[in-house]
Amino acid sequence: MTKAERIDDLLAPHLAGRADALAMIDADETPITWNQYGAMIDQMEAALRDHGLEAGGRLLAVAENAVVLPVAIFAASRIGAWIIPVNARMSGAELARIEAHSDPDLVLYTSGISVEAGKHADDAAATPEALLAGQVHFRTLQSSLPKGEQDIAVILYTTGTTGDPKGVMLTHGNLIYAAEASVGLRKLVAEDRVYGALPLTHVFGLASMLMASTLVGATIQLAARFTPKALYEALEGGVTVLPAVPQMHALLMAFAAEHGHSTLQNKSLRYVSSGAAPLDPTWKRKAEAFYGIALQNGYGMTETTAGVSGTQHPIGHPDISVGPPLPETLVRLDETVGSEAGVGEVQVKGPQVMKGYFRAPDLTAAAITEDGYMRTGDLGRIDEEGRLHIVGRSKELIIRGGFNVYPPEVEAALNDHPQVVQSAVIGRTVEGNEEVLAFVQVGPTADVTPDDLTAFVKTTLSAYKRPNRIILTDVLPATATGKILKHRLLDHFAAELA
Ligand code: ATP
Ligand code: MG
Repeated sequence: MTKAERIDDLLAPHLAGRADALAMIDADETPITWNQYGAMIDQMEAALRDHGLEAGGRLLAVAENAVVLPVAIFAASRIGAWIIPVNARMSGAELARIEAHSDPDLVLYTSGISVEAGKHADDAAATPEALLAGQVHFRTLQSSLPKGEQDIAVILYTTGTTGDPKGVMLTHGNLIYAAEASVGLRKLVAEDRVYGALPLTHVFGLASMLMASTLVGATIQLAARFTPKALYEALEGGVTVLPAVPQMHALLMAFAAEHGHSTLQNKSLRYVSSGAAPLDPTWKRKAEAFYGIALQNGYGMTETTAGVSGTQHPIGHPDISVGPPLPETLVRLDETVGSEAGVGEVQVKGPQVMKGYFRAPDLTAAAITEDGYMRTGDLGRIDEEGRLHIVGRSKELIIRGGFNVYPPEVEAALNDHPQVVQSAVIGRTVEGNEEVLAFVQVGPTADVTPDDLTAFVKTTLSAYKRPNRIILTDVLPATATGKILKHRLLDHFAAELA
């Protein structure tokens, strides 16, 4: 087989040779064969062309996980257009901002969009179309920008954990590399059934899940929204691969404990991973006991098409690093950024590094060094075995009385408490010094107090790392992936902090 040059090339062998095998199980549980999937992509391609989408044009797709989104992604690729997948759960204001910034030629809305996004579609008088038996709406626009370069496949907006989302331009080559690296790490095969709750609008869902599964022709079982109950049922129903963010494991463990399930009965699960946010050692231990297999940690970011590094450990391995770099990937530390020996900003070079930020050459120039390394903004260290450890983000490092406090370490200490579901730690500057604030999510039946937690972390954290304030809550502001939006915490809990 010739090497894939564009992401739609990844489909070819399965469309041709495995017509009756399952490509997907849609979010509404409809099974879809490769044959049917191919026909949908043909239809979508025709519809996009009818709406004037051309090579180098930009398609904004507002969608949740459902087959229509990958169909649109591959149809756009066939045309040579760029696709900008955005999560339908965004607010109308967030959507408007991304629309203004990405300046698309065509907007596609799929069924299952949020009320606000639906209002956005209605206000803009998007036209419904009888395509793919669903409510697909299109809106043609007059983009003021010239056509883009042909090597770009997608623009993905970053999560916005630390500020405004940035539009990351990823090439076909970036995505194909990510697919291959992810398949290599997971030993993914055509017989696998991959659970697809990671949003396809985020790099982990798009690259490590969709592109990797497409490369080998595995079946993806899509889920529009993550719920621990649906995940539990899917695992008992025969899912073999579970890519997830740590919060999904934490919420599943809380669900299992509540319902008295100590381990999975079905033994088909063979690979479980965690990525996109720090993996807590307690969660890893609990999750491995529940799944009965090892939990692998992977590190990456939108700007590196997800994959930078990943572990390949046996079950019970105590290491909670993010593993050694993937093939063809160079990782180095810039110790001028860290304020501790051996710790520095993680810089990455390899086939996964983005082309740049869309319409932001200054940001791109600031993010990529002259010799081609991406400055990740993450602080890390490299151990004797060559494994990378992420200790925190440089933006989130708290300096208290001259000492460094890394939020993930404080979060891990809090998460150790049996009644804690998850936590988020940030710094707040008060009279020139930083104090440590902890927002802690507890279960519905929990009776733990902030004082209990303060006493609890005394055994694991030295005094300067212990939170000045602990705020208990039953929910933390999070994205569709489950990542906690740390920059929103102060506003969100303003009343509690006053
Ligand atoms: P923004 O850049 O808009 O503030 P974001 O950085 O959260 O948002 P993403 O690209 O979704 O957007 O996330 C990448 C970041 O997630 C990494 O830079 C790192 O801080 C964190 N991350 C990813 N994987 C891991 C991991 N396994 N362990 C610790 N942190 C991780
Ligand atoms: Mg980032």
